[in-house]
Amino acid sequence: MKIGVIGAGTMGSGIAQAFAQTDGYSVVLCDITQDFADGGKAKIAKNLERSVKKGKMDQAAADAILNNIETGLRDISADCDLIVEAVLEKMAIKHELFGALDQICKPECIFATNTSSLSITEMGAGIGREIIGMHFFNPAPVMKLVEVIAGYNTSKALVEKIMEIAKAIGKVPVQVEEGAGFVVNRILIPMINEAIGVYAAGTASAEAIDTAMKLGSNHPMGPLALGDLIGLDIVLAIMEVLQSETGLDKYAPEPLLRKMVRGGALGMKTGKGFYDYSR
Ligand code: NAD
Repeated sequence: MKIGVIGAGTMGSGIAQAFAQTDGYSVVLCDITQDFADGGKAKIAKNLERSVKKGKMDQAAADAILNNIETGLRDISADCDLIVEAVLEKMAIKHELFGALDQICKPECIFATNTSSLSITEMGAGIGREIIGMHFFNPAPVMKLVEVIAGYNTSKALVEKIMEIAKAIGKVPVQVEEGAGFVVNRILIPMINEAIGVYAAGTASAEAIDTAMKLGSNHPMGPLALGDLIGLDIVLAIMEVLQSETGLDKYAPEPLLRKMVRGGALGMKTGKGFYDYSR
């Protein structure tokens, strides 16, 4: 099965690796420029190098995974069987993308989105085929969960097909109906936002907040470190969707979150968030 992953950032590169390392799947990884697409593949190469160094994989297996990934612009996804889009968390961008792909992809190609919070139904409106949510978690090659999200017009048959594909690449899928933030992000992202509020109030340092939640709640990572890993722009985008979809002020993004995103402090991907990753 040929998979087109559109968007070669944090998630797209991880999703590409998750498919490329499974027998029977080949991947085309696309972005808006060839350099960005190649950059996504370089991230995968680095990841695999680490696994080889740790003795988890031999060099031949790492090379085979990389050879299974072609890079380019979205046009090279025309003969794919499944598209998983992982571009920016903006409805207009995703909607435009699926509209364009609908013109170039073969009719039987399945369209899936890795959106963290946006409406699958709205994303599919006016597009000539059904769309489904296939929501991976970061880092995608490692995290087991995939939320499989049905929009209003998604058929049961397509849900079952994506559940099967998720299992085939070693994931554990859960079936979810459309709803703001689905399951995990509806619960997780407001917790990260709350931690930012605790930090902004000066109640504790970032290290103290994260240590408290790791040891007091048995979380493997503190909420601020997790926000940095996810990307603070993504955290903000999800809070905005939760607030606008529900109309509830309890989902208002913390002013500090907004300020950091405006200032380009997005977490690990920009080298600075609640922690410094520049070294
Ligand atoms: P990112 O900023 O790391 O990467 C986005 C990539 O998409 C960039 O390389 C960008 O150049 C590319 N892009 C933008 N517009 C494009 C277009 N029209 N065509 C092709 N490529 C385009 O973002 P990310 O963290 O990888 O998030 C991507 C998606 O995955 C979002 O919808 C996000 O909500 C979702 N998601 C993120 C996480 C996470 O932990 N970061 C987890 C699950 C889902």
